[in-house]
Amino acid sequence: MGRIAYVNGRFVPHGEAVVHIEDRGYQLADAVYEVWALFDGRLADAEGHFARLERSLSELSIPMPMSRRALTIVLKEAVRRNRVRDGLVYLQVSRGVAPRDHAFPAGEVRPAVVITVKAVDRAAAEARAAKGVSVVTTPENRWGRCDIKTVGLLPNALAKQKAREAGAAEAWFVDELGFVTEGASSNAWIVDGEGRLRTRDTNANILRGVTRLTLLDVIREEGLQVDERPFTPDEAVAAQEAFITGAGTLVLPVVAVDGRPVGKGEPGPVATRLRRLYIERARATAI
Ligand code: PLP
Repeated sequence: MGRIAYVNGRFVPHGEAVVHIEDRGYQLADAVYEVWALFDGRLADAEGHFARLERSLSELSIPMPMSRRALTIVLKEAVRRNRVRDGLVYLQVSRGVAPRDHAFPAGEVRPAVVITVKAVDRAAAEARAAKGVSVVTTPENRWGRCDIKTVGLLPNALAKQKAREAGAAEAWFVDELGFVTEGASSNAWIVDGEGRLRTRDTNANILRGVTRLTLLDVIREEGLQVDERPFTPDEAVAAQEAFITGAGTLVLPVVAVDGRPVGKGEPGPVATRLRRLYIERARATAI
């Protein structure tokens, strides 16, 4: 059975799913998106992703295309039709289709909605986590509203390509003061020399990762110390451990930064344990 996509009210074969050439998401990146991890066909951290979706849309004055309840039904139907148990659901909402003009279209335009679902090989993901991944650093060059999850991802795409060409899995953006902001598609963390967890605070120009938020709960429940404070690439290399979080990566150990090993150059006990605890939590609370 082939993949099925949802486009503006219809489920269609993935290969035939198309949007209009004057969709403002396509022409102006005037669109937001969300990604949910799927465990056993259910949406992980559902509430957090819906809340962020609503906030992203509201910051851009795009109306919710349907109620949260209706959207949940459509997302779950997309998952069901694709028969995916472990994977990712992608939702994109653009301002809609209108003659090309930078300013918002006059009159009411219906937001355009696209949903795709893809399977993830969890065994392969676990094997990758057991080995850990490398990251490279790259100068921060994104706009000032990275808290809005827009599809304007060109700097992220270029950073990710730089990582790929260096044989790394992720790129960490570094701001003009020399601190890591976040990854191209993940939040960045270390376990510092004193064993304290460190990750950038959300007053900075970063995406408020939903996985990050859930993990902060897990960390506090575990009684671990956490400091929402920035760190430099040098501090990451001197740290005991480093890792990244995101719906796509969950909690993934980082073993090298710009070719320099972090700690012993292998996944550490804290990241490994937090990955397990995060997955347990996400699986138990998925809807
Ligand atoms: N930061 C960026 C730039 C991202 O694109 C993502 C996820 O795609 C994240 C952080 C992690 O966010 P979440 O945990 O909500 O997936």
